[in-house]
Amino acid sequence: MSDVVDRASALRAYADETAGCTRCVLAGGRTQVVFGAGNPDADLMFVGEAPGFHEDQQGIPFVGQAGKLLDKLLGSIGLERSDVYIANVLKCRPPGNRDPMPEEIAACEPHLFRQIELIQPTLVATLGNFATKLLSGKPLGITRVHGQPQEVALGASRVLLYPLYHPAAALYTPSMLEVLKQDFARIPALLEQVEASSPPVPENDAPLSTGTAEPVQLGLF
Ligand code: URA
Repeated sequence: MSDVVDRASALRAYADETAGCTRCVLAGGRTQVVFGAGNPDADLMFVGEAPGFHEDQQGIPFVGQAGKLLDKLLGSIGLERSDVYIANVLKCRPPGNRDPMPEEIAACEPHLFRQIELIQPTLVATLGNFATKLLSGKPLGITRVHGQPQEVALGASRVLLYPLYHPAAALYTPSMLEVLKQDFARIPALLEQVEASSPPVPENDAPLSTGTAEPVQLGLF
């Protein structure tokens, strides 16, 4: 499916379907599923960790303090929320904002992979450890890999993965905020680079079926 309108309506339908998800225990404590928000045809997609209190209340990712910082960072590179798509590894708030559990990530990952399949971003910026480890398929932590773009295949989609510090962590650590700003400033150049070298997306994409991302060579660097 490559047509923008078809993909956008498939994404809406998938969001409706996901609103009743009971794949893990988090369904019992949520106010609502926080599916994702933004441009369904975005080249640039952000993937955070999980909804917090405000996101759970409003049904929109990154609307609290970390979201305000994300908005500022987007503004610093001339972008708005409506230019990008924002989602999380988990679609439901963990109680007390605790870390996602492995079984919750496993239960929820088909939702994220389906989003990526339908949106077809070329650059996926992972915010923090959980998104980075899930989508890179590697255990390396964010401190080691932030700011280092890596080419990955997610099912039939080839994307450039760009790990960044999580804005919530950067809020309280000025040195981390500085690094996050510097890493963020490279996004426009990466987008240009990846757009220039991306082959056209095939018409009949195979469904994304695995969370294990294999590095692929796109010849970007
Ligand atoms: N932190 C996240 O990872 N996601 C949100 O939506 C909000 C805060």
